[in-house]
Amino acid sequence: MSEAKSTGAPFVFMGGTFDPVHNGHLRTALEIQQWLDIPEVCLIPSKMPVHRDEPGCTSEQRLAMVELAVADEPSLTADAREIRSDKPSYSLLTLESLRQELGPQRPICMVMGVDAYLTLARWHHWERFIDLCHILVVTRPGYELDLEPTLREFTDRHAAAAKDELLSLPAGKVLIHELTPLGISATQIRQLVGQGHSPRYLMPDSVWDYIQTNRLYGFNRL
Ligand code: ATP
Ligand code: MG
Repeated sequence: MSEAKSTGAPFVFMGGTFDPVHNGHLRTALEIQQWLDIPEVCLIPSKMPVHRDEPGCTSEQRLAMVELAVADEPSLTADAREIRSDKPSYSLLTLESLRQELGPQRPICMVMGVDAYLTLARWHHWERFIDLCHILVVTRPGYELDLEPTLREFTDRHAAAAKDELLSLPAGKVLIHELTPLGISATQIRQLVGQGHSPRYLMPDSVWDYIQTNRLYGFNRL
């Protein structure tokens, strides 16, 4: 049980495949923790979508890298519920399980980059998320907040007036927040490693060491 869960502070989390986790994820989570002035932000790696194969590494290895990445940062935690679940990763299931665990009053806030938010209206039962959590959308280099009409209307309807609403209400608000731009992606890292180049300084050294030791993403294949 992490500290935020026992203190009653808002539970703020970021989902993703983290294939692998990188400084774009970690810096985002830390900036959000500092900006909201909360004890911690949690990273929740998901299972791969069924249509995406896992040539690079396994779910357990993605989880292990997230755990390594947050190990020396008290403000960041990792949660294994999606990877360890026997069900496919659906945000709705995760939100329901968090809500059940944290109770009806605790604020829950789901953080996602603009690229992920642009696709939200295609997620399974997406329109039920807002009853269970807030959505905090963070800027990401290379992606504009160019929303399709349904999502534009949804965003306007649920717009939070200020970040305080994310901290005082249990759910129901959408807020867009600008971050220090970091143009890092896991795709770029997988490509670098596969081409025999180092991804150093884009991710913690502990994660890069893990990739080399376990020969992930085609490391040393060339
Ligand atoms: P891939 O290239 O494999 O899609 P990714 O770098 O986009 O990997 P994901 O695991 O897909 O990483 O992303 C998880 C979450 O983190 C998403 O909400 C995504 O928008 C966000 N995110 C990833 N990288 C950044 C970044 N550099 N800046 C801000 N948000 C980011
Ligand atoms: Mg992505």
